[in-house]
Amino acid sequence: MTTSTEPIVGNIQIHTDNIMPIIKKWLYSEHEIFVRELVSNACDAITKLKTIANRESITHAPAEGLITLTSNKEAKTITISDNGLGMDAEEIQKYINQIAFSGAEEFVKKYQDSESEKSGIIGHFGLGFYSAFIVSNTVEIKTLSYKPNAQAVLWSCDGSTSFSISQTEKETVGTDIILHISEENEAYLEEQKLKDLVTKYANFLPYDIQVNGVTANNKHPLWIKQPNEVTEQEYKDFYQTLFPFSEPPLFWIHLNVDHPFNLKGILYFPKLAHELDSARGDVKLFCQQVFVSDNVKDIIPEFLTLLKGAIDCPDIPLNVSRSTLQNDPYVQKISKHIVKKVADKLNELYKADKANFETFWEDIHPFIKYGMMNNQDFYEKVKDIVLFKSSNGQSTSLPEYLERNKEKLERKVLYCSNKDTQATYVAMCQEQGLEVLFIHAMIDSHFIQFLESKDPTIKFTSVDANLSDQLLDSTNETPKNEALPDIFKTALNQENLKVQVENLKSDSVSGVILESEQMKRLKEMSIMMRQPLPGLEDYTLVVNQNNPVIQTILKLHSDNKTELAHLLSQQVYDLAMMSLKPLTGDKMQAFITRSNQLMNQLGGNA
Ligand code: ADP
Ligand code: MG
Repeated sequence: MTTSTEPIVGNIQIHTDNIMPIIKKWLYSEHEIFVRELVSNACDAITKLKTIANRESITHAPAEGLITLTSNKEAKTITISDNGLGMDAEEIQKYINQIAFSGAEEFVKKYQDSESEKSGIIGHFGLGFYSAFIVSNTVEIKTLSYKPNAQAVLWSCDGSTSFSISQTEKETVGTDIILHISEENEAYLEEQKLKDLVTKYANFLPYDIQVNGVTANNKHPLWIKQPNEVTEQEYKDFYQTLFPFSEPPLFWIHLNVDHPFNLKGILYFPKLAHELDSARGDVKLFCQQVFVSDNVKDIIPEFLTLLKGAIDCPDIPLNVSRSTLQNDPYVQKISKHIVKKVADKLNELYKADKANFETFWEDIHPFIKYGMMNNQDFYEKVKDIVLFKSSNGQSTSLPEYLERNKEKLERKVLYCSNKDTQATYVAMCQEQGLEVLFIHAMIDSHFIQFLESKDPTIKFTSVDANLSDQLLDSTNETPKNEALPDIFKTALNQENLKVQVENLKSDSVSGVILESEQMKRLKEMSIMMRQPLPGLEDYTLVVNQNNPVIQTILKLHSDNKTELAHLLSQQVYDLAMMSLKPLTGDKMQAFITRSNQLMNQLGGNA
């Protein structure tokens, strides 16, 4: 056998007999979206008739747009009717019988070219109508075109690829889609179910939608209004419409872009219960006011998942799988725009009323910080409005803090990460007029490292990490006593204890424990990663030789009263340790015994 070197060219063949089950099964994963698709088509039909009536003179002017859904439990039918433009036999042939031929696209091309206005047409792919077969055995279309002398037609199809078309009687212009609901889908015949689905998918469509005679939609999405026309109360009310029974939102951002892409919507910052209450965000994605999904993962940047609200992106296709949205340039542009808007809003709120900004800072700061660490643009925009609580009782931004303290601290930032255990250190700093920032949220240990990486001249230093020069008495020239370190090492029976002798300004302090900044951060990390490492301790005992107790220890020592000198040294160490963490077990026991012993001696001397 010889093989030809000529390539064989041909067309892939599709056997259309098999196509309907595939459409039914795979195109739409959720049964209920037939409501969305058929109501969207009805809505398009009305919009089209209005558009045509605006340009051509037509025999009967269109009435107010109306879409009705009627369920009949006996006949097991749902009928979706509209008073839109209708179809004649030829149009049914073209738009309905050819799957994936979108009459909507064709219409937009014809009527939109010279106009900059948006047509408001929802349809796109020419597949939506067939979702009717997801829930039906047989589907009928009864329709009368708006065209003069049109003949009403009835189309019927049982879900195979064959259909019938015949003439029929219909008095009013428009279309009835009659679904003969299959047994498994009889739940959709329930009036309440239909109402719920209209509210879910079509709440904000611009025409009246009635279910068994009662209006089921709201019609007015706030986002289509101009931001300057909307009152604060309206924003709050709209939030309640979207998320009934929620606490009022903190603030919101009204998106309103026509160019270079189309994006409308309102994003709310909800009130959060606690720092990690994050996964609750909920932004509903609409496309020309039709609800599409709750999943806007790729459109809203990850760090803003706390946001709630609604966005309308008419250029996002309704039917396609959205798994690849992330790489879509349009989606990326939207996402960038949202980040920018959020940053602008935060700056605006900060400038307008800092006190008010502080009130919700507690709720939002973890997200802002997380966002800064993940998004360079966002970092640049908000870095100067990140607030820290200061020991002066106010909130301050980092640039303000650095500016205020540049003489005393240069680029050092003194911080306290635990108000309880570091109280002594904070008090010592305050006594000397040093400003301390309170940084204690879960995210902060990462965040300060991040800030240091952004600006390496800034050094965050924990109040208990080392002694600031301001705490030392520089006028006191007494040389550092060389005997003291050994006295303490022996008294405490710790050969490797680090002892640092200083002249502190405050003579009421006998000793202070310092914990190295590095070790401290390592320890915090290990706790956060739920793998606490034992032995991550690096302490230094600072002995204040200005303090009378220390001087007594020296005196006792030179008088050879070593036992008492040791007791006092141990007491100094324990007291210093206690301001870092509580004594436990044997250590506590020893402390109490020794305290009693010392008090006894004092009593004995009295
Ligand atoms: P798409 O809406 O994406 O164009 P569909 O499959 O939903 O595709 O509908 C196909 C076409 O059938 C529509 O574009 C429209 O021309 C026509 N059509 C569907 N429903 C109606 C209706 N209720 N009234 C008038 N025309 C309709
Ligand atoms: Mg459609």
